[in-house]
Amino acid sequence: MNETRVRFAPSPTGNLHMGNVRVAIFNWLFARHNKGKYLVRIEDTDLQRSTKEFLESQLNSLKWLDLLSDEPIIYQSSRLAEHKKIIQKLIGEKLAYPCFCDPIDFETKRAELLQLNSKKEVFICQCRDKDYKTLDLQKPHAIRFKIPDSVKEVKFDDAIRGEIKIERNQLDDFVIMRRDGIPTYNFVVVVDDIFMRITNVIRGEDHISNTPKQILIYNALNVQSPVFAHLPLILGPNGTRLSKRDAAVNVDEYRKQGFLADAFFNYLVRLGWSHGDQEIFTKKEMIKYFNLDDVGKKGSIFDIKKLEWLNGVYIRQSSFEELFAAVNDLNEDYKQKLTEDWNIAQLQKLFEQYKQRATKLLDMVQDIISLAQKPKVLDLDLISKWLSEKTFKLLQDFVINIEKLEKINHEKLIEVAKSICKKYDQKLVAIAQPLRLAITGKIVSPGIFELICILNKKDAIERIRLLIEKLKSI
Ligand code: GLU
Repeated sequence: MNETRVRFAPSPTGNLHMGNVRVAIFNWLFARHNKGKYLVRIEDTDLQRSTKEFLESQLNSLKWLDLLSDEPIIYQSSRLAEHKKIIQKLIGEKLAYPCFCDPIDFETKRAELLQLNSKKEVFICQCRDKDYKTLDLQKPHAIRFKIPDSVKEVKFDDAIRGEIKIERNQLDDFVIMRRDGIPTYNFVVVVDDIFMRITNVIRGEDHISNTPKQILIYNALNVQSPVFAHLPLILGPNGTRLSKRDAAVNVDEYRKQGFLADAFFNYLVRLGWSHGDQEIFTKKEMIKYFNLDDVGKKGSIFDIKKLEWLNGVYIRQSSFEELFAAVNDLNEDYKQKLTEDWNIAQLQKLFEQYKQRATKLLDMVQDIISLAQKPKVLDLDLISKWLSEKTFKLLQDFVINIEKLEKINHEKLIEVAKSICKKYDQKLVAIAQPLRLAITGKIVSPGIFELICILNKKDAIERIRLLIEKLKSI
């Protein structure tokens, strides 16, 4: 049996889109499941739109998700001479021909014919059977692929959708090299897939209409076509293709916001593929269970809430070391900021506390960084629900009591708080929420008594005193 070889072939004309990366993930899993190779090819022949910055950003996204190529990356632009050589071969075999038509004229004539016969007849370029002279080739011309007369239809078995058939009248002699001498996508993709010995082409369904053209080129080059599989698209909430209006589509955004690579990977795998009801998979499990039979034919709706939930689950499952390493994936140098303000023992405790309700690493890290400073504002409106004339007394007693303690710990703090609340006939929340405001500036945070223990006692008391002062002034 031949080795399974698949490829992910992004064009560096933008940042990596969520849909692209899901294609990469499915290819990677398919290769790993079949003990084959997963390759990356950069389709950078569109010189105007491809940039170094986009390339770098795409490779960074792939690296983040551990989706880099098993073999050296192939850059399509480096194979231009080879592409041209094969075009000449096709011309020599009369399987391609130069077309001197003005592109605009050509399209107008074709559109007219289409209107007249509503696609019953194929538009034949007048250059198709012309006897051109070598001299003519000085004039601007494109090269068209000559669809053999014997072709009545093109059929292929899509590994996800079953048989797909395209009638001959849906296809005309398409351009394989533009007037500017650059071979077109449909041609180079085939030449490079042959060169890379690709056995399975797994890509988005937006490429279905390209596949018949590519199969015709495989036939012309006398090479067996790979097996094709077209993945359904990722949809927005209204059921149409996911767009920037629905959610961030750039994969890099998710990294910057603090989605963990494995959580993001897991989410995208489940977007279109299932294995029973299982939601959370280790990579090992995904590799074991992945197959294209379980990829749905319908598009799947992107759900940011589910992604956040899954990310939260991964955050809670991660050790301090894993999370601390993932801080490097965030954009700024948050690691430095964290270690400037906290020692490692404190950070370990803080991560443990904050990860319990976190959905994104960035929020969690920013909260921990801001906890190192006294709150800039103490907004009493936030605690209006719990404010009473007793609040001042509760806080004051709390400070007096903990000042007396030689060492603070969680149990002791709770004990102190409870006994003060009892004294003033209050519920624990009546002291906990003002304390939370004093320490964090917020009314939502991890357990406040745990946080006080992590801060040093002096700092905690200073913060509580600031709130006491503020209460005095009202
Ligand atoms: N460069 C193409 C894209 O980004 C690749 C298509 C293919 O996989 O054949 O959509």
